Amino acid sequence: MMRSLLAASALTAALGACGAASAQSLAITIDDGPNAGTTPRMTAPERNQAILKALAKHRVHAALFVTSGFGANTPEGFPLLQAWSKAGHSIGNHTVTHPDLNQVDLAAYTKEVLDCDRLISTLPGYQKWLRFTYLREGNTPEKIEGMRKFLQEQGYRNAYVSIDTSDWRLNEKLEEVLTKNPDADVSAIRTAYLAHIRQRILAYRELSQQLQGRDIAQVLLMHHNLLNAMWLDDVLAEIEGMGWKIITPAEAFADPVYKLEPVRKAAGQSLLISLGRVLGMGLMPGGERLVDDGDYEIAELAKKGL
Ligand SMILES: [Zn+2]
Repeated sequence: MMRSLLAASALTAALGACGAASAQSLAITIDDGPNAGTTPRMTAPERNQAILKALAKHRVHAALFVTSGFGANTPEGFPLLQAWSKAGHSIGNHTVTHPDLNQVDLAAYTKEVLDCDRLISTLPGYQKWLRFTYLREGNTPEKIEGMRKFLQEQGYRNAYVSIDTSDWRLNEKLEEVLTKNPDADVSAIRTAYLAHIRQRILAYRELSQQLQGRDIAQVLLMHHNLLNAMWLDDVLAEIEGMGWKIITPAEAFADPVYKLEPVRKAAGQSLLISLGRVLGMGLMPGGERLVDDGDYEIAELAKKGL
């Protein structure tokens, strides 16, 4: 009796040490939405609805990082944004026109953030979270320091990404193929997308263990596009099938790793890559796939004639 009690308490302690939000957990964040542009196969409301339906089916609470000039600032596009708010998702800021901070000055960039904020700040689910466009935080010390000061003064969080994906690149390929032939068989792109997500999740998990000695609560980047309208359901099933727990963005951002502010030597990448560069770490085996913008998957698709 004594022995089994001890064993039970040791097990409880071990489970406790893993922590609810730390063991292979990730949050879903979706940028550049809602996108009211034209694509093959689906209208903008259909794409928006399909993405929301997939999230609801898997009971996932995600964050939408709004680029208001992609549609939300029009009478037709605003209801697409409201649908996210009504469905209980978090609403964050991703500027008005998606400028590149490396190309514009600090004043122009902060104006973009404040203009987007005016549109989104009254919506339920609104969070003071800024997702930098292209994940670029400035190419001069003045811009980097200026943005940090701006975020602090405005009470904004830098909504970091830890798992960078190149879903946007596969989406370009998907739209290109379907524009030529709306009835084309695109199942190879679906397969490539699922493999891409799987590879990125596993590689960034390994990077997390190398850099932090543990599984951080990961934040995965995706985009509001046709690719996810068609296959987000499958992607979420894949992630769950890998044994990962999908947590809310707020739960993920509570991980102390997201309080770090590394000097980012290379722009436009995952927080984990920035942390690795600060430590002078070279790329891990296979790490070139983490910074290749999806070239590997595109080359594989080209071999299949797509
Ligand atoms: Zn973006």
